[in-house]
Amino acid sequence: MDSTSRRDFVRMAAITVAGAPLVGTVPSIAHRATPTTDEQERKLGVALVGLGSLSTNQIAPALQKTRHCRLAGIVTGTPAKAVQWKAKYGIPDKSIYNYETMGRMADNPDIDVVYIVTPNSLHARDTIKAARAGKHVFCEKPMEVSTARCQQMIAAVKAAKRQLAIGYRCRFEPHHLEMLRIAKEKELSEVRLIESGFGFSIGDPTQWRLKQALAGGGPLMDVGIYSIQSAEMIAGQYPVAVSAMTTKTDPVKFKEVEESMTFELKFANGISASCTTTYKVNGFNRTTAYADRGSFGLTPAFNYDGIKGWRSDRKELPGAEVDQFATEMDDFADCIINNRPTSVPGEMGLRDVRTMMAIYEAARTGRTVRLA
Ligand code: NAD
Repeated sequence: MDSTSRRDFVRMAAITVAGAPLVGTVPSIAHRATPTTDEQERKLGVALVGLGSLSTNQIAPALQKTRHCRLAGIVTGTPAKAVQWKAKYGIPDKSIYNYETMGRMADNPDIDVVYIVTPNSLHARDTIKAARAGKHVFCEKPMEVSTARCQQMIAAVKAAKRQLAIGYRCRFEPHHLEMLRIAKEKELSEVRLIESGFGFSIGDPTQWRLKQALAGGGPLMDVGIYSIQSAEMIAGQYPVAVSAMTTKTDPVKFKEVEESMTFELKFANGISASCTTTYKVNGFNRTTAYADRGSFGLTPAFNYDGIKGWRSDRKELPGAEVDQFATEMDDFADCIINNRPTSVPGEMGLRDVRTMMAIYEAARTGRTVRLA
């Protein structure tokens, strides 16, 4: 093995090993000393794939606030959007692609990272194209709509010797990290139960989020995944068994996907999490952990800003207000620049898709499904 392939081997081994155990760890960038001058000067070029609501309103503005990233390219199927984005962000023609031409990024050294922001069931298609073009991939949640597709994504990025991260923004959000710390350090003794819920009242009945083929499911895939992540962070593990039940009051609008879902996650360390997700009501947004000497929680828990923490002992549950998208992108850039594995790898996205598929099976069969 020559020294380059040895380095690659060591790096990929580290990334592979990182997959499973990182469930309860804290990303390092928020806690690191000031970066060196070289680190500060290096900005990675990011290309956004899919210029919908999240790219337009959150990610593109957030990239302007990062220390290590710049918006360098776009992939869109809508020529009018290309014109607007070119004018607004000064993107050169050579870095504007559509879904058919994006493979040509292979010849574009201005693009280091491809950020996938298309509907859920297009994530594998776009990730694999980006990986084959030799780019690192940051992919929005949920990773995909089946475990087989998640595995294909992991394999494609590994074959390209690049990194793959999933957009789990709460893993970088200070209040969530404080919840993790309180649980891990047993500040209120052992956590026993977790309760979490996230939902909203969905509008346009024709949107892709209500189509099984594009979304892979309903609110569970879209926002219930935040409760799964929150429970995993606090429990410090992935669940080993799930049970679930769905509710539907509008079978026309929710013809293809669930309207609401209640599910239980059981962890090997004895913690259980009771979670609900819905497309039916607004303002449903919280996580609570119940421990032997008190409880602590976030209400709201999953917003882009304004997250509020509380503790039953009336001590503060602090957390700085950050741009979660800028923070997660700076962390990923730091992983690439410093050759360290991401704390939100494809393996974590795969585990959560596996958990969600088990939750659907549990709801369908009425049985507890084991995930050991
Ligand atoms: P959106 O509908 O606003 O945007 C989707 C984009 O994909 C649009 O530009 C659309 O033109 C494009 N697209 C390409 N092929 C398409 C097709 N066949 N059908 C429909 N659209 C197609 O959606 P969004 O809210 O931006 O969500 C995009 C992704 O980001 C989803 O995976 C979603 O789960 C995720 N998301 C994450 C967060 C977060 O907080 N991390 C928030 C919102 C959305």
